[in-house]
Amino acid sequence: MNHKTTGLIHHPYVPPSGFEAPQPGVFKASTVYFPSVAAMRRTEWKDKTGYTYGLHGTPTSYLLEERIATLEGGAQCLLAPSGLAAIALVCLSLLKSGDEVLIPDNAYGPAKALLRSEFRDWGITHQVYDPMDPQDLARRIGPQTRLVWLEAAGSVTLEFPDLVEQVRVCKAASVSCALDNTWGAGLAFNAFDLGAGQGVDLTIHALTKYPSGGGDVLMGAVVTRDAALHLRLKLTHMRLGLGVGMNDVETVLRSLPSMALRYAAHDRTARALARWCQARSEFSQVLHPALPDSQGHAHWKALCGDGEGRAGGLFSVIVHERFSAAQVDAFCDALQLFRIGYSWGGPVSLVVPYDLATMRERWPVALARGTLVRFSTGLEAVEDLQADLARALAVLAAG
Ligand SMILES: *Cc1c(COP(=O)(O)O)cnc(C)c1O
Repeated sequence: MNHKTTGLIHHPYVPPSGFEAPQPGVFKASTVYFPSVAAMRRTEWKDKTGYTYGLHGTPTSYLLEERIATLEGGAQCLLAPSGLAAIALVCLSLLKSGDEVLIPDNAYGPAKALLRSEFRDWGITHQVYDPMDPQDLARRIGPQTRLVWLEAAGSVTLEFPDLVEQVRVCKAASVSCALDNTWGAGLAFNAFDLGAGQGVDLTIHALTKYPSGGGDVLMGAVVTRDAALHLRLKLTHMRLGLGVGMNDVETVLRSLPSMALRYAAHDRTARALARWCQARSEFSQVLHPALPDSQGHAHWKALCGDGEGRAGGLFSVIVHERFSAAQVDAFCDALQLFRIGYSWGGPVSLVVPYDLATMRERWPVALARGTLVRFSTGLEAVEDLQADLARALAVLAAG
């Protein structure tokens, strides 16, 4: 090696092995070296016995996959660039032209949009079912149904379905069931062991939310307990080229140890504010699964409810219909600590007004008419958030 450049690239120094510290190392690669051509040919990318190419994982992503599988109560995990990409991966892997997929009316909106557009164009049909009526789900399962999406609690409206019964209906019809477990986050309940011998086939989890905890990372995961199902998803994952950045993986690995503590803190604050909102005449309804009069409260209690129960940081209100949508917008604008923005699970409390009529096939029978506002609590002091709400309500009343 006569040239310094070559010497820098092919440098002989190897640091001693055995370094251990609280935070795992970050291994970044597209290219991964093999000691020989024979070793290259021998190396299997389908399991975690070795390394072949950055897209198929490095020690850093293997670590996060194993930890997320443990969090969810599953056995295998695949990482995707976002929660929505994880949903798309599951659909692309398990559905083909002529198949049908069922999705609850309160599912994460962009997932419904994906089925309404690309999947419909590819000849994959879908039906939207009533999440609060397992008989409606049972009636809609037909010979073409290959996959049922479940979500608990429902996006934006936070009804809690009878998951055990929904899974039983799917199993009785031999249809795969996939749970969007972003809300429960692996902490509120165990999706693979729901009691009564039931469990979902797979979960997806937007790691963007509580696992990241910072509002600064987009990532998703698909968790399974069945090796054959995992392999099927992994083959599609590989062929689609769904990679994640190792610096993002590192960020999630760093946040995971505090996740249960943060989830409990978001939960405490959300419940305190939800109860406070119940006493305000400007709101005709407060939606939170731990409130006794909320839709599916008994199902929430049965699944997540030992002791105080577990519920995360989301709640919604229906603003009384005497207030116009513009007045509700002004209320949201008047909030100072609650920032206006999508997503949740980070340190900052967020607020979004939703026009529910454009989001649902049917207006949920249990819901009052009016504009819905969804809050997600961050990690601020509850007294400050309550004062912020009171201040903005004064603006609403004055407007
Ligand atoms: C945020 C979210 C997703 C999508 O996650 P992204 O990483 O933002 O794509 C999916 N499902 C639910 C329930 C979510 O809240």
